Amino acid sequence: MSTQPAERRDFIRDMITSDLASGKHQAPITRFPPEPNGYLHIGHAKSICLNFGIAQEFAGARCHLRFDDTNPSKEDQEYVNSIQEDIHWLGFDWKDKLFFASNMFDFFYECAVALIQKGLAYVDEQTVEEIRLQRGNVNTPGQASPYRDRSIEENMARFEAMKNGEIPEGQAILRAKIDMSSSNMNMRDPVLYRIMFAEHHNTGNKWCIYPMYDFAHPLEDAYEHITHSLCTLEFENHRPLYDWVIENCPVPSRPRQTEFARLNLTYTVMSKRKLLQLVQEERVSGWDDPRMPTVSGMRRRGYTPAAIRNFCHTIGITKMNALTDVALLEYSVREDLNAHAPRRMAVLNPLKVVITTLPDDTEEPIEVLNNPEKPEEGNRTVLLTKEVWIERDDFMLDPPKKYYRLAPGRTVRLRGGYCITCTDYKTDAEGNITEVICEHIPGTIGANPPEGIQCRAAIHWVSTKHAVDAEIRIYDRLFTTENPDAAEDGFLSVLNPDSLSIISQAKIEPALATVEPEFHCQFERLGYFVADRRDHVAGTRPVFNRTVALKDSWAKKQK
Ligand code: ATP
Ligand code: MG
Repeated sequence: MSTQPAERRDFIRDMITSDLASGKHQAPITRFPPEPNGYLHIGHAKSICLNFGIAQEFAGARCHLRFDDTNPSKEDQEYVNSIQEDIHWLGFDWKDKLFFASNMFDFFYECAVALIQKGLAYVDEQTVEEIRLQRGNVNTPGQASPYRDRSIEENMARFEAMKNGEIPEGQAILRAKIDMSSSNMNMRDPVLYRIMFAEHHNTGNKWCIYPMYDFAHPLEDAYEHITHSLCTLEFENHRPLYDWVIENCPVPSRPRQTEFARLNLTYTVMSKRKLLQLVQEERVSGWDDPRMPTVSGMRRRGYTPAAIRNFCHTIGITKMNALTDVALLEYSVREDLNAHAPRRMAVLNPLKVVITTLPDDTEEPIEVLNNPEKPEEGNRTVLLTKEVWIERDDFMLDPPKKYYRLAPGRTVRLRGGYCITCTDYKTDAEGNITEVICEHIPGTIGANPPEGIQCRAAIHWVSTKHAVDAEIRIYDRLFTTENPDAAEDGFLSVLNPDSLSIISQAKIEPALATVEPEFHCQFERLGYFVADRRDHVAGTRPVFNRTVALKDSWAKKQK
């Protein structure tokens, strides 16, 4: 399957191309290694498009899905399931290459033992505080632990005791013996294993020692014969440790780590810890709340896999950290939906129009194009009746210049139907307009009005007799500032209180009431909408989410 048309070039693909040319590898083997401690977000999508993308582009290549599940305290089967579903939805597949780091615990243990045997690892039994104080800082070298020079036999015995649950949590760790004065803090005898009496979602209570990321990750890569281990830039100064582990452990292959810039988006937080907090504190309805930057949230919002892949393609792969404008993602969504979503009519803020010149029982079939930009997608029939709903802001008593829609004495076209002229209107006691009275101009379906009558706009409408009530959810950005991570009082202080508004009695054309969940369409003149994956029930409870407005109304509001 190929998901991207254009051939792509970036420094990682160039490196792979030259590794193949030199004969270093026959084919690249990459991996996507999520920790199952949250749902995938748009940053993960970037990494997925890179790793699985490479597997699609190079002959004989493949990409593994590996759950980096080495920390039982935060991991959960729910996350394992959602991650697989999201990757498939994005259009990628690991085939039979599904791995769990937790299935490699024996191998990690063997490697730790091998390091001890070589005199390259020791069990440190100081307190966490003592160890912290000895680490030094960038300007001060660290100090050696009093346990640093234990004998191999003693280290073996104590590590065995750690493994057997004979030492309480926090009272011993296994450390690599590297260099306490290294200018790279990661090399100052980093922790390899810690004690944790926690039940693991895969291995249960078999283990009470768990490997640290920097030790386990290179071993996982080597175990799976990964050729190119691609990670984000924060890990650049962990690379010497990655290489040290590969160099000194009995590994079956020699993977190489290469870093690229992570994705950061304006008006968005991406850290799983913060996303979890939003969920746990019920600031959003769940991981798949349509305002969340998660893959499942974007799916529910109505973003499409192609739009997300195109976005990842557009931003490309570089070594420069940057803050990407979320408007670019929204642009990509609009582009894809504009090309593929059919058009339908819905009125969000309804105002009744009575066409006095039509007989009471009028049901005039009107042919409207499913997609005015793609006539090949055919027509559908909607029924025009004596009373129709129009959008409240398509009528004005005192229209300003350049307002070409309905007003007393003015003529507009009901999309696909007649031109109608406003002759009167009704108001309630407070002066609010409750009804607009019009006359239709016979013969104007598919034809211009007679000479001398100006009709400069076509507005959308729904027959009051056939309209179905629907709930429409209008989403806005979750945060009010570009960089919520930098907010002085924390990211929660800049939550947008108006990020969700619910319209409970919008009027939709009847065909919309029976679509299946995840049906995408453009509500003419309003934006792109999707039938909600969770709450929409075809035929009984129509619920639509606004995916994105037609144009960037936010930018206008900001001005
Ligand atoms: P977070 O920092 O949001 O908690 P993480 O890096 O801890 O994310 P993992 O599950 O460990 O989450 O990530 C799996 C893979 O996705 C890693 O290879 C990581 O580099 C990549 N990844 C995570 N966030 C981003 C991002 N914002 N941009 C690009 N790649 C990312
Ligand atoms: Mg991580």
